[in-house]
Amino acid sequence: MAVASVLVSPQIQDQLGDEGLAEVTRHLWPADCQSCGKPLGSQRPSLVVDNLEVFATASLHHQRCRTPQWNQGHITGTNQPTLSFRVGGLMLPIQNDPRPMLVVNPGLESVILNRQDDQRWKVQHNSYFTKAGLVPPGRSFVVDHPIDGAVARLTTDSIAVTLQVAPFPTYECALEEHFRQEAARLKGVLLGVTHLVDPWTDPHTFTRDLDTALRSGEMLLGWVPLHGTHTPAPRTGPPGTHYVLRWTPHCGIVGPVLAQTPKTLVQRKARNWAKSMISPDEGTLMSWEPIDPKVPEAGWITMSTLSAKFFALLPHAEGWYLVQALTRGGGRDLTTDNEAKAWAGQVLQIKSGITGLEWRPGPQQPGVSTLYATP
Ligand SMILES: [Zn+2]
Repeated sequence: MAVASVLVSPQIQDQLGDEGLAEVTRHLWPADCQSCGKPLGSQRPSLVVDNLEVFATASLHHQRCRTPQWNQGHITGTNQPTLSFRVGGLMLPIQNDPRPMLVVNPGLESVILNRQDDQRWKVQHNSYFTKAGLVPPGRSFVVDHPIDGAVARLTTDSIAVTLQVAPFPTYECALEEHFRQEAARLKGVLLGVTHLVDPWTDPHTFTRDLDTALRSGEMLLGWVPLHGTHTPAPRTGPPGTHYVLRWTPHCGIVGPVLAQTPKTLVQRKARNWAKSMISPDEGTLMSWEPIDPKVPEAGWITMSTLSAKFFALLPHAEGWYLVQALTRGGGRDLTTDNEAKAWAGQVLQIKSGITGLEWRPGPQQPGVSTLYATP
């Protein structure tokens, strides 16, 4: 069962509150100490929260290894060799038609916390699961519809699922013959990821906790195709990459977003920021020039002297985007979004082999239109 109680500091109590603490302990399991890596045993573990502003992590430790602590704003290591994960398999009944399912608890002793708009802390899954195509149960989950970001391999006595996004984790589990036959027949396996289940517990508790996680939606699901049985959709660039298309009547700029500022900056600072975000391998940068001299609000462009890549600095309401522009500009005489999309489609395909992006309109300014796409 999830950790019964933890030692907390007054600051943890103050920051998380009773509700936040309950949320955290519901998702943590007392397996190994995240300081020394040895089993936590039966003593009450210390809770340590590292608040990194964008998100926080909560982890369990021996009392003798760490005292309960709320750490503000500095990282103590994100790559945790001490973290345990557990994988289990079962046949999940779906409308009288059971599917082989691999259930993964990706981190027993440590979870990521995110502060919601209402200031409540919620446990969140690592973003590489959603980048791989996993979704919560509900309308967006389609049974038997293969995701592009993971692949499954069957051996004689096990199944292994590998995510196709960094850090490319693999989850493997020994198989019963029936499970294996069904995965082979259906050419895939259902992958379920949640911190609410211990897949190594007894079968009754396992299915009960899994049922709770499925009903509450605190789980991510995806149908993972067996290796070689599924051709991913048209290549739309690395998952999670955002693309920007900005056009004026005289010029278009399109490409992947490399970085964005968290706040508005004056132009000079924005340029310094952009320079710091571009790899020194690109060599020196030429001087920044307006993308469209007739429409200064459109942004700025430069070229690297070594790789001859174009970088565009685009102002928007909340800050700046640094975009790797695939051309110096182009698409002269654009008059509608559809013309701009057609031009961008050609550039993307020719310059980087990317097809199938769906553009959605962003903010409009006089003379400047911006569209966004995420594969
Ligand atoms: Zn320890």
